[in-house]
Amino acid sequence: MRVRIANARLLDPASGRDEQGSLDVVDGRIASVGNADAADGVPDQVIEANGLWLAPGLVDLHTHLREPGQEYKEDIETGTRAAAAGGYTLVCCMANTDPVNDSPAVTEYIQRRARESASVRVRVIAAATQGLRGEIMSEMAGLAGAGAVAFSDDGSVIMDAAVMRRVLEYARGIGRPVIAHCEDLNLRGSGVVHEGAHASCCGLPSSPGEAETVMVARDLELARLTGAHLHVAHVSAARSVELIRDAKAAGVRVTAEVTPHHLLLTDEAIRGYDTNKKMAPPLRTARDREALRAGLADGTLDCIATDHAPHAHYEKDVEFTAAPFGVVGLETALAAGLELVREDLLSPLALIDRMSTRPARAFGMGGGTLEVGAPADLVLIDPERAFKVEPTGLESRSKNSAFLGRELRGRALRTWVGGRLAFALDEELS
Ligand SMILES: [Zn+2]
Repeated sequence: MRVRIANARLLDPASGRDEQGSLDVVDGRIASVGNADAADGVPDQVIEANGLWLAPGLVDLHTHLREPGQEYKEDIETGTRAAAAGGYTLVCCMANTDPVNDSPAVTEYIQRRARESASVRVRVIAAATQGLRGEIMSEMAGLAGAGAVAFSDDGSVIMDAAVMRRVLEYARGIGRPVIAHCEDLNLRGSGVVHEGAHASCCGLPSSPGEAETVMVARDLELARLTGAHLHVAHVSAARSVELIRDAKAAGVRVTAEVTPHHLLLTDEAIRGYDTNKKMAPPLRTARDREALRAGLADGTLDCIATDHAPHAHYEKDVEFTAAPFGVVGLETALAAGLELVREDLLSPLALIDRMSTRPARAFGMGGGTLEVGAPADLVLIDPERAFKVEPTGLESRSKNSAFLGRELRGRALRTWVGGRLAFALDEELS
C-alpha cells in the first residue's frame, strides 16, 4: 500500500528541505520525498495537500501524562490524544506520577499502558532520586535498561548540590541526559508569581528570576565538572539565557527548552487572578520574554517544550495562592510557535526544527526527519487555520489552558504515527 501526500510544502529541518513536493508512505515508512516520479510506483491513495505544510511529527520533551495515579487529571489515552491533536507524534512523560516512576516496574508499566492505549509514541523520563525527594539516587542503570530516555525530578527540585553532582555523574556513565527544574526552593519561598509591580499590585507572594538563575548557574557548573548532558527545563528568565549561551560557547554539554506560555505571555497576565496563569517557573517580564524569543531564534534554547501539566477544574477553581502550578499545552503549542513565525522571529523551517528535529536529537530518540526510510511520523499543518481555545475543543481531560478564550491561528489537520492516522481534524481535506 503506497499512500502519496501530494502538493505539500515539505519542511524538513534535518535536510534543510523547504519546497513544494510530495511524500510517499509505504508500510509505515517514508518511501520517497520530493518530486515523485514513475519509478516510485503508482500510489494506491493520494492525499491532496493543496500547499499545506508537511513536516516531521512534533516531539515534546516535557509532558505530564499523570498515569499512574492521577487519572482524574489525565491519562495516557487522553494525554496522547491531545498530543496527536496538537501535531505531536512523540511525547516524553515526566516521573512525578503516583507512584513516582523511580523503579523499572513503573517504567515498564507506563510503557505497557502506552502500547495498549496511546495514540502517539511515548518515551519515559524516570526520577533522578527516589521518591523525587532529592536525597538518594534512583536505580538509574536499571531504569535506563527498562527504557528511560532521561532522568528528572521535575515537579520537585534536587536542592542538594552533592546529590545533583552524583546524579549527573551516573547519567553520564549510562549516556542519558538529566533534566533540571531550576528553582531554588528557599529563594522561591511561598512565591507564586514573579516579583515585581504586578505581584505588588495583586498582593500575591512572589519570587525573583534569581530563584531560577542561581540554580541554572549551579547546574551548568556541575555539568562542566562532570561532563554530563544537562537539559534545562522551561527556561523563564533573561539571565538564564545568557548563562546557557556562555556555557554552550565554553563547550558545556547543555540543551534547554522554553514553553509556549513563557514565549507569549508576561506577568501582566496575573492581574485577573486567573489560576490558569499560575505555573512554575512563573510568567516573567516583557524583557525576559524578549530574551527567551531571541534565545530560541539563535539556538541557545534548543526547543519549545509544552510542560503540559493537567489539573482538574476543581483544583484550579480556588484562590490563586491555593491553586496548583501548571497549565496544559499540547494542543496550543503549534499555534503559539506560529505566532513567532508570523512575527518573523523564526522561519517555518526553524519552527519545525525547534519543535521536532532538535528535541528528537536532544534525547537521541530518532524522529524529526523526512528522510527516506524513516518511520512516517508526520504532521500536516494549516498555518492559517484559526480557532478559539475553549474547554470543549480540547481533547485533554483537563482544560487548564493559559490561552482559554484566545483566538489562535495554525493547526494540525492530520497526524500520522508510523503511517497510521492518529488524528484528523476534518473529514475531508478541502
Ligand atoms: Zn518543572
